[in-house]
Amino acid sequence: AVRVRFAPSPTGFLHLGGLRTALYNYIFAKKHQGSFILRLEDTDQTRLVPGAAENIEDMLEWAGIPPDESPRRGGPSGPYQQSQRLELYAQATDALLQTGAAYPCFCSPLRLELLKKEALRSHQTPRYDNRCRDLSQKQVAQKLATNPKPAIRFRLEEEAPAFQDLVFGWNRHQVASVEGDPVILKSDGFPTYHLACVVDDHHMGISHVLRGSEWLVSTSKHLLLYQALGWQPPRFAHLPLLLNGDGSKLSKRQGDIFLEHFAAAGFLPDALLDIITNSGSGFPENQMGRTLPELITQFDLTRITCHSALLDLQKLPEFNRLHLCRLVSSETQRQQLVTKLQALVEEAFGPQLQDRNVLDPMYVERIILLRQGHICRLQDLVSPAYSYLWTRPAVDRAQLSAISEKVDVIATHVLGLLERSETSLSQDTLNGELRKLSGGLQGTKHNIVMQLLRMALSGQLQGPPVAEMMVSLGPKEVRERIQKVLA
Ligand code: GLU
Repeated sequence: AVRVRFAPSPTGFLHLGGLRTALYNYIFAKKHQGSFILRLEDTDQTRLVPGAAENIEDMLEWAGIPPDESPRRGGPSGPYQQSQRLELYAQATDALLQTGAAYPCFCSPLRLELLKKEALRSHQTPRYDNRCRDLSQKQVAQKLATNPKPAIRFRLEEEAPAFQDLVFGWNRHQVASVEGDPVILKSDGFPTYHLACVVDDHHMGISHVLRGSEWLVSTSKHLLLYQALGWQPPRFAHLPLLLNGDGSKLSKRQGDIFLEHFAAAGFLPDALLDIITNSGSGFPENQMGRTLPELITQFDLTRITCHSALLDLQKLPEFNRLHLCRLVSSETQRQQLVTKLQALVEEAFGPQLQDRNVLDPMYVERIILLRQGHICRLQDLVSPAYSYLWTRPAVDRAQLSAISEKVDVIATHVLGLLERSETSLSQDTLNGELRKLSGGLQGTKHNIVMQLLRMALSGQLQGPPVAEMMVSLGPKEVRERIQKVLA
């Protein structure tokens, strides 16, 4: 059975890079009727960020890709936080110590620090010199007497096995010569990433590891650990880097890559999943507007290439517009949008909402139907340009007379126009009628008439086309606003 995991460290809130990894794991699991597991790699207790663990799980749910097994949901392979699985890492370490594949290291932090400094001074990659590797049993016993809690290191074989990555093809990294033997268990009993990851992937029955390509090199180390523990390794598929549209590192330039930000800004989860999958590979073709079920059917792991994925967030509003229209076209989803917009209006204009019943679901729905396609997010409908929809403008006559002295004449004409066409007018017909109207007013230019009407309807000199405002407000409300300006 396919079992995959997303294994973030709760050292920060969920961002787009993490979402991409989680999404590909989710899609792959669902495609193969498998399970998607969330495992929190919280062994570096000094780097934990309060609230990050909750945020990661909340945001996966918000994105519509909830894990099947997780700290919150539990499951057959729990616990799902590494800090609660110390016993398993200790067991694996014991097994490695028994066979001599691991050994205690008594080097002081000071010595390790000096080694590092020396290497850096001569422009070399810091490498542990494996000093404690060949201590005799007697030496170990002596050192244990004064230092009963040594760190444990893994004896790296010179020859790392080659492996076939499902994305990057054949790989082999001679890790031993580069880094020296790595610590697998720290003196405080906490494992390091490499051991914990191998032990958990094994015990959780992970079949495929889909993770960022920054872990490609570590895989050789992991395979040596699997070998030493006598375990069958999973298959590996490393995902290419996810970069900004201009090729810069995702987290470096873009401050707002956290999912929370996108959720608060009113972006739809589907739009994010869509733009992420369109930025990378794994599908027969790129195509905007796909939904999660479509992503699952169309996904093909063998189509992931090793080219970096370029995420152009400038296009996100466009993706969002598309998904918003899709939601509007579904009756049930549209009702949910109505409820959301009511809440947004309440929040934005609460105290200014007058007796006019702008929160009437019929009105709100009509606005959504009319304006979809013109807006990117539902939020846009409460922006200043659209405030005329929800509040009546406070316009006084002086403001109107400053635009044209023919306020009464124009207002009367518009009222007449509304009377003649009691049923709602289309924007095109209205535009024609308004042109005719200003044509009949000797000496007043069309744009002056429009300015005056816009001011009367919205209290602003700039804004949406007058005909659009009239259609949105409906004849009754337009009439009331115009009547108010008559002397
Ligand atoms: N904890 C690692 C991370 O934060 C997980 C790497 C892996 O998936 O093995 O990316």
